[in-house]
Amino acid sequence: MIVGAGLAGAKAAEALREQGFDGRITLIGAEPHRPYERPPLSKGYLTGGTDRAGVFVHQEGWYADHDVELRLGVAAAGLDRGAHHVELADGDVIEYDRLLLATGARPRRPPIPGADAPHVRYLRVIEDCEALKDVLGSVSRLAVIGAGWIGLEVAAAARQAGVAVTVLEAARLPLLRVLGPEAAQVFAALHRDHGVDLRLGVTVSEITAGGVRLGDGDEITADAVLVGVGAEPDVRLALRAGLPVDDGIVVDAALRTGDPDIVAAGDVANAFHPLLGRHVRVEHWANALKQPAVAAATMLGREAVYDDLPYFYTDQYDLGMEYVGHVEPGGYDQVVFRGDVAAREFVAFWLRGGRVLAGMNVNVWDVVEPIKALIRTGTPVDPHALADPNRPLAAL
Ligand code: FAD
Repeated sequence: MIVGAGLAGAKAAEALREQGFDGRITLIGAEPHRPYERPPLSKGYLTGGTDRAGVFVHQEGWYADHDVELRLGVAAAGLDRGAHHVELADGDVIEYDRLLLATGARPRRPPIPGADAPHVRYLRVIEDCEALKDVLGSVSRLAVIGAGWIGLEVAAAARQAGVAVTVLEAARLPLLRVLGPEAAQVFAALHRDHGVDLRLGVTVSEITAGGVRLGDGDEITADAVLVGVGAEPDVRLALRAGLPVDDGIVVDAALRTGDPDIVAAGDVANAFHPLLGRHVRVEHWANALKQPAVAAATMLGREAVYDDLPYFYTDQYDLGMEYVGHVEPGGYDQVVFRGDVAAREFVAFWLRGGRVLAGMNVNVWDVVEPIKALIRTGTPVDPHALADPNRPLAAL
């Protein structure tokens, strides 16, 4: 059984069939839709480039064709590990031999007065996106609270729709925790160049009917407000069942929880990463896409370990970016750029002790595999060679 019909849940059903499992698979989803991808919700589906049919993980008939029973629009409300069953919110009880928890994450709601007002938007589910699309088509001024990935992607979509955008961020640069100041300034310049009023180092004290009030008393006038201050793992079911939880459901490298019959994958899983030597919870698409194959193997009693490097991507205006690796805030001692940063066509590398920890390619393509290889080898690299675009990465 799989609880959570998002990308990870859908891919787990697929992986179970691909790995030869011919028993019963039930996929339980609280949302009324079959599994869909979330990245288009802040990009193509929001801007109109992708249609609704393009967001789903599988065609409608796939589930029946693969004998996967979909229970949609109903949450798993209880989990009795002793009895090996899940209780649904509609009263049904379903037994399992093995269970995958792929319950994902939910938008964080800041403790600011007004954050729950009806004109305040969050972006996680398809209905949020469709409502926001209407908003972007009808308002002239949008305030975005939080300059993280979602806030910035929505800011770009809004600018493209001709909406005036103010982005409010507490840190001194957007994406500062993830990228550090050297690379984060690229995103600050990108948005300012596209006319975004980027207010950094500010605190929001209240969301009002007419916009946003800042800690220093300043008022930002806006017709609508989008809050993008991160997501929190949906651990409610796991907590109720007494599973180990610490910033997500704690799992080992085989994605097994403290209960040998229960695994977790995707945004909700805080998994031990053998290469990084610690637990990491990755809230990105590629992780939800690939972890399920390991979760499926573990459920089928096979040896499997998830050791893919964290990877994510973003598209904002004409900037496309991929990032691979993992750096704790302040966990590097050097950033090396290769290419033309001012033209936003470059690769950035984060290093510690000469070793590459992570790389980000901006409008440069087909370099993720060599960057991954550099990270995996763990041997020090010559920063001058790294910075030289004429030296193939694969040869370093
Ligand atoms: P989710 O997608 O959260 O799915 C979990 C599902 O489980 C949900 O449908 C939820 O309703 C359901 N559920 C929860 N509890 C229960 C329960 N008790 N019973 C039944 N069902 C339950 N990543 C990138 O790498 N690049 C991007 O550009 C990017 N863009 C994004 C844009 C947006 C707007 C969002 C929201 C995310 C984006 N991501 C991106 C992140 C990526 O979409 C997530 O990492 C991915 O969706 C995680 O998939 P998941 O299946 O683990 O969780």
